[in-house]
Amino acid sequence: MAYQLLDGKKISEEILTEIAAEVKIIAAKGGKIPHLAAILVGSDGASITYVNNKVKSCERVGFISTLITYDANITEEQLLAKVIEINNDSSIDGLIVQSPLPKHISESKVVQTILPEKDVDGFHPTNFGRLALGLPTYVSATPNGVMEMLKRYEIPTDGKHCVVIGRSNIVGSPMSILMSRNANPGNATVTLCHSRTKDLKYITLQADIIIIALGKAEFLTADMVKEGAVVIDVGITRMVDGTKKSGYRLLGDVKFDEVAEKCSYITPVPGGVGLTTIASLLSNTLKAAKKEVY
Ligand code: NAP
Repeated sequence: MAYQLLDGKKISEEILTEIAAEVKIIAAKGGKIPHLAAILVGSDGASITYVNNKVKSCERVGFISTLITYDANITEEQLLAKVIEINNDSSIDGLIVQSPLPKHISESKVVQTILPEKDVDGFHPTNFGRLALGLPTYVSATPNGVMEMLKRYEIPTDGKHCVVIGRSNIVGSPMSILMSRNANPGNATVTLCHSRTKDLKYITLQADIIIIALGKAEFLTADMVKEGAVVIDVGITRMVDGTKKSGYRLLGDVKFDEVAEKCSYITPVPGGVGLTTIASLLSNTLKAAKKEVY
């Protein structure tokens, strides 16, 4: 089957261009330029790359960004104090704290300390709750990126069977809520799968749309996918690869070469969902600066 690639670069370029145009208008009117603060703790290679990409994207659209870095041995109290300081800083519209955090720091405590108004990652219980209730909120960036992709490629979701694999708070769970709610994209019949799901293949074979976020490289194989399915691969696993300049290559949760042949649409890794995630984060930051949610 001839499949169409869902091009994350194209979608994210579109979104970033729209944001940059809006920032120009705000600047011309003397309005508040959106300001995103990011906190990075420790020296995890992937986290440094993610945060740097977020900061670079801020520059690209004309946002102000502040990157705060700490050694992995910072105490929880010190980190929480910084979060509170940023909460009280009216010049900063959005705050993200890059995960994972060192084990001695409670991610949940940190997330709950960020003011919901500044939680542009959409991880705070208030924002998650608002998402579940269909109220205006900051939808967490990765699920939001997937929804933008479905919307901009005009992929029908109404009445479709969508199987979400993975139930994390930041991807799978919000994804399942978004796909099932009464909206477009949305209105799908959703099955949410996880590690206790029995006979996953039986379920995925019934899916019109599969959204997979589990973090196991090339887990979804062609025998698990029906002809014509839409497959969205959120997974990112770094594999050591001496032939690459970076020393690693990225693999998704989908065995792309064999699965793509059966799909109507499929996202690549890299070049798929990962790029739309950053664009969504900046969208949320713009909303925060414009006080569109709160
Ligand atoms: P996570 O918190 O590790 O959750 C993984 C989920 O997969 C869990 O719900 C787990 O079930 C489920 N699972 C594990 N093995 C399974 C199996 N054999 N069958 C069915 N379900 C299984 O993951 P996450 O934070 O959502 O991240 C998932 C992947 O997405 C990772 O590769 C991550 O790097 C990537 N990611 C990408 C982006 C992006 O921007 N593209 C953003 C975030 C994450 P249980 O709940 O039962 O344990």
